[in-house]
Amino acid sequence: MRIGVLGAGQLGRMLALAGRPLGIEFLMYDPSADATGGRVAPLVVGAFDDRRALDRFARRVDVVTVDWENVPATSLRAIARSVSVRPSPRALALAQDRLAEKRLFARFGIPTAPHAQVNSLTGLRRAVARVGLPGVLKTRRLGYDGKGQAWLRRPRDLEAAYAALAGQPLIYEAQVRFKRELSLIAVRGADGDVACYPLAENRHANGILRVTRAPHLDRARQAEAERHLRALLEGLRYVGVLAVEFFEADGRLVANEMAARVHNSGHWTIEGAETSQFENHVRALAELPLGRAEARGHSAMVNFIGGMPAAADVLAVSGAHLHDYEKAPRPARKVGHATHVGASASARDRAASRLLSLARAAGG
Ligand code: AMP
Repeated sequence: MRIGVLGAGQLGRMLALAGRPLGIEFLMYDPSADATGGRVAPLVVGAFDDRRALDRFARRVDVVTVDWENVPATSLRAIARSVSVRPSPRALALAQDRLAEKRLFARFGIPTAPHAQVNSLTGLRRAVARVGLPGVLKTRRLGYDGKGQAWLRRPRDLEAAYAALAGQPLIYEAQVRFKRELSLIAVRGADGDVACYPLAENRHANGILRVTRAPHLDRARQAEAERHLRALLEGLRYVGVLAVEFFEADGRLVANEMAARVHNSGHWTIEGAETSQFENHVRALAELPLGRAEARGHSAMVNFIGGMPAAADVLAVSGAHLHDYEKAPRPARKVGHATHVGASASARDRAASRLLSLARAAGG
């Protein structure tokens, strides 16, 4: 069994690291010859719109999945003619467009922020009049880690926000005054079996995830999130891991966005859950039974952004585990993470604050 992974970033790398013990091989595909996934599995270098290269790649694998969520939908559909693509090109295409995603959520009764499509400055004025201020203007496509976003707090911010993002299809969303940000990761097997991880609580800075704590123990929110994820997984006949980011506001969950792949807020599962999100994604693709998704203790995951701290400093935090993606440091680039599994939430929180100060000193 060989899994082809489109995109060879840290997610692809961690998929391969999780799948090899199961006897599964990997073949990576990335436009960059030094993509980090290529350090742990063979790498094919090619563009995501090079049909011939993609075709040759597809012929060498049994199933294709993605590390990068923005592989053009036309390429995914072309590959799907010769080998199965999981999750499906349809699910991947929906997750590439913030507006399509919100329509999908609405179809399954999942609440979202009030929003409106924006294609012009006049359209933005109309959207602001309807949805209100403050709010955030986002590109519908290719936005990640807070990129492609402009906040509008006063009417006079409108023109500058539009000028910063004009020329692309946009969406304007009302600001959600959330109490916290939570995410749920779930996996569906080819046989329809579903496993849901415990909710994770996420803290962002400048739009980038800094720290995740899990499990977030709230039975009512857990049941609500699982209901939403099951509706999406079953409605799309989805195979693999799906992540949905929620805001908790006014005592309920409001969906922000979904990722049709393994997700940064699930990295804690490598040491902190019975089966990691990476292994469960591989199991789903390989049509193997899914593993249990229960937490093993109280986990924290801290991202290293812009630079890695010294391994010795991270590992001096008793119980910490280090994941170095072997990527060149660059401002705002995720280059690694550390996790900690504690016997109590307070032990976990103490370790998390030490790891966070190392992260800050190393890069921000
Ligand atoms: P996103 O790229 O949509 O995940 O946005 C990155 C981060 O910006 C989110 O995790 C939130 O912290 C914040 N954010 C995005 N959209 C909204 C919104 N409508 N209301 C409040 N905060 C938001």
